[in-house]
Amino acid sequence: MGSSPYFTEEHDMLRQSIREFVEKELAPHAEEWEEEEMFPNWVFKRMGELGFLGLRYPEEYGGGGGDYFTEIVLMEEITRCGSGSLGMAVGVQVGMATPPILKFGNEEQKQKYLVPAIAGDKIACLGITEPGAGSDVASLTTYAEKVDGGWKVNGNKIFITNGWRADFMTLVARTEKVKGYKGISLFLVDCDTPGFVKSRKLDKVGCRASDTAEIFFEDMFIPDGSMLGEEGKGFYHIMWELQGERLIAAALSVAGSKLVLQEAIQYTKEREQFGKPICKNQAIAHRIADLATKLEACEAFLYSCAWKVNQGEFPAGEISMVKLISSLVACEVADEAMQFMGGYGYMMEYPVQRSWRDSRLGRIGGGTDEIMREIIATTMGLYA
Ligand SMILES: Cc1cc2nc3c(=O)[nH]c(=O)nc-3n(C[C@H](O)[C@H](O)[C@H](O)COP(=O)(O)OP(=O)(O)OC[C@H]3O[C@@H](n4cnc5c(N)ncnc54)[C@H](O)[C@@H]3O)c2cc1C
Repeated sequence: MGSSPYFTEEHDMLRQSIREFVEKELAPHAEEWEEEEMFPNWVFKRMGELGFLGLRYPEEYGGGGGDYFTEIVLMEEITRCGSGSLGMAVGVQVGMATPPILKFGNEEQKQKYLVPAIAGDKIACLGITEPGAGSDVASLTTYAEKVDGGWKVNGNKIFITNGWRADFMTLVARTEKVKGYKGISLFLVDCDTPGFVKSRKLDKVGCRASDTAEIFFEDMFIPDGSMLGEEGKGFYHIMWELQGERLIAAALSVAGSKLVLQEAIQYTKEREQFGKPICKNQAIAHRIADLATKLEACEAFLYSCAWKVNQGEFPAGEISMVKLISSLVACEVADEAMQFMGGYGYMMEYPVQRSWRDSRLGRIGGGTDEIMREIIATTMGLYA
């Protein structure tokens, strides 16, 4: 028997080994990597060696052959490094840029990109967002023009996680000059292709140890075999991908916030004012009680969605709900934790400031709060 209806004994053992790795090999460097504004590439290689980058991928590609909950375990445990950056970067590698390769790729593409990504030999990024196309993905204009033997790509992507150091990109581009959902396709592109220009490493409020880049494509030629999945079906392929991305984001938010709350509780037990620990003021204790309740509810909801995904379902409305509520609660927890710590919470020497900055991304990346509400309202039939 495992620790809950969702987690078996194998999951618990996996959790223990990831936790040991994260606490021993990642957490001690969190501060230094934040200052250096990029954690080192060996993290991917090391995680590949340990088998953590392919937990739910088939064994024939070097994966662990596990279920969806193995990825949830990874995301939960990686938050113990105390930096949102690692979770985001690894999340892109295992749960955003590579799932479309397994789902839509041919054997050659799996060997060329999926196998080295699982081994940690190649770093992946996902190129959807453009300066003129954020929430409205269907308005993207990066254009792959059919030419002899391949495609010539011109355009621009922005806010690309891992983009500065990536070896390949899962790219979303237009293959037909029509407006809207149609005529969009996916490609797999080596980042050293001539015309693939990493133009800027962007300066962010939070998740500062993760690299985020702006990329230009300048007459970039990619061969015929680069297309991933069906031509013209890229929008639907990427909408499928985004479901997994949002669940991962929720898992990171909930697990990260539980740690932040624990630390804040500890602080309120130790810090005394007016002759007693801060937590013995009902004004504080009740707020802690509210936050703990919200986190438990988010976690239960997350596991229920993950269970459905594990069964092969993709409940888009529920996934949007759990992404929305988890990232809102994560911001609330980080903000309250800072409040409970008073002036010390506002100081750079305490980690809560990093959670306060890092957690804010959850409400924007992978689809904003507003877009989540839009999907929820649509699936509820409110616009029908
Ligand atoms: C650190 C970071 C990492 C990222 N990583 C990646 C990545 O790896 N790959 C990638 O492709 N993208 C990535 N993104 C991009 C991210 O997914 C987008 O920023 C996000 O989807 C929002 O797009 P936008 O920034 O263009 O905002 P906009 O779409 O311009 O939205 C601006 C505001 O308007 C609101 N809004 C827009 N439309 C509506 C509407 N119909 N109704 C109500 N409100 C609306 C939005 O909710 C938001 O509040 C990343 C972003 C960040 C900040």
